[in-house]
Parts: sequence; structure tokens; C-alpha cells
Amino acid sequence: MRIDILTIFPEMFEGPFSHSIVKRAGDKELVKIKIHDIRAHATDKHRRVDDYPFGGGAGMVMMIEPIERCINALKAERAYDEVIYMSPDGDLMDQSMANHYSTKGNIMLLCGHYKGVDERVRDHLITREVSIGDYVLSGGELAAAVFTDAVVRLIPGVLGDETSALSDSFQDGLLSPPVYTRPADYKGWKVPDILLSGHDRNIAEWRHERSLERTRERRPGMQPE
Ligand code: SAH
Repeated sequence: MRIDILTIFPEMFEGPFSHSIVKRAGDKELVKIKIHDIRAHATDKHRRVDDYPFGGGAGMVMMIEPIERCINALKAERAYDEVIYMSPDGDLMDQSMANHYSTKGNIMLLCGHYKGVDERVRDHLITREVSIGDYVLSGGELAAAVFTDAVVRLIPGVLGDETSALSDSFQDGLLSPPVYTRPADYKGWKVPDILLSGHDRNIAEWRHERSLERTRERRPGMQPE
């Protein structure tokens, strides 16, 4: 899988993809993540990527031309399954969306900034808009990083233990049961006896019950699959 991220702040991606699972996925060549500086496609001598909004008002708007040039340069190299604009009013991301994209070939993620991008970008250049939640961030970079992380960990082969992603919260319409590790007794706070019993079947049953209980309490609307 290949994910191309278009941004005016490429430095913001130095952290999130250089550690842990996403980095390992890159090392194993299961994903290629490329960051593109939209400013490199600006045409005027000041490398302008934003301008004042028509009609007045506060905040700058990202211009269409550098964005189109950046998208077209990438499209000239390969076909894309989706060109996504990260946007607070886009389709709300959830685990099933992450599953959907984890099987795709090439995806582009466009990050807005300031007041967002010129509406004509949204009308003509992208195929979908995705939000990571009903709140407003300063830019699409953190949203693109969240999207990428949630998708990449689901690409087959990325997680060492294949069953690990399957037992995550939301994956089967249930929240995960509680987990514990050593010590079994910490200042009198004890791990449930059953987890120390060695009875695999009883443990599996206990975990399933805790999952159901947690889902009922915390996500009553969620339907087990
Ligand atoms: N004025 C716009 C918000 C612009 S926020 C509005 O009210 O809709 C600046 C940029 O941050 C956006 O262009 C978008 O790319 C990104 N962004 C902000 N919140 C986001 C969210 N919840 N999900 C995805 N992207 C978001």
C-alpha cells in the first residue's frame, strides 16, 4: 500500500511515522508513506500557497493551483483509489473505514490549514472527505497521521500476531476486555484470579463476558457482529 500526504507543513510528520508499528510496516515494505510539500508546487516567486478569502472575513484560504499541481504530479505517476481531503465536516472515521482502506493500493491525503482549502478543490479535485471527529484542529496533518496509523496497523502482516488486531475494540462490534500484566498483586490491587488459573476456556469466556459488559455500559448503541 502507498499513502501520499499533501501538506504545507511536512515537518509535522517527522514524529508519528518514525516509531513503533507504522515504522515497522515501512521497514517491512508493507506500506510506503510519502510526504509532499504543496509549497514546492507554488508558481509565484514568493511560493504563496494561501490568500485572503473573497468576500472578506478572517483567516487565509489555501489556493487551488499549487494543490492541483501537486495532485496531478502524483496522478501522472500512478492511479489512486481515493483522494481524501481531511475535513471536520467530512465522513466520520471509524474502525470499519480503517478496515476498508487497509485493503487499498494507493491513497492520497490532503491536509488543509487556516480556514481550509478553496471550495473548488473539494468540488473538483478530491474523491472523499474524512473527519476524525466533531472538533476542529488547526490543520489536517494530525488528522492524516491518525487516519494513517489506524489504517496501516490493519494491513495484513503489519502486526506480528495476526489475531491481535481482530481482538481490538470495535473490530468485532465489541469493546476489548481489561488486560493485566505482572505483578499479580500490586499494593493489594489484585489481578482477577481467573487470569492466573491457566484454564483457557474459562479465561476466554470471562473475557467475552467483560467485553459484552463493557460494550453495554460504554457503547450501548454498538451491535456485536
Ligand atoms: N474553517 C473550517 C476549519 C478549518 S481547520 C471549518 O470550520 O470547517 C483547518 C484544517 O484542519 C482543515 O482544512 C482540515 O484539513 C483540518 N481539520 C480540522 N479539523 C479536522 C477534523 N476534525 N478532521 C479532519 N481534518 C480536520
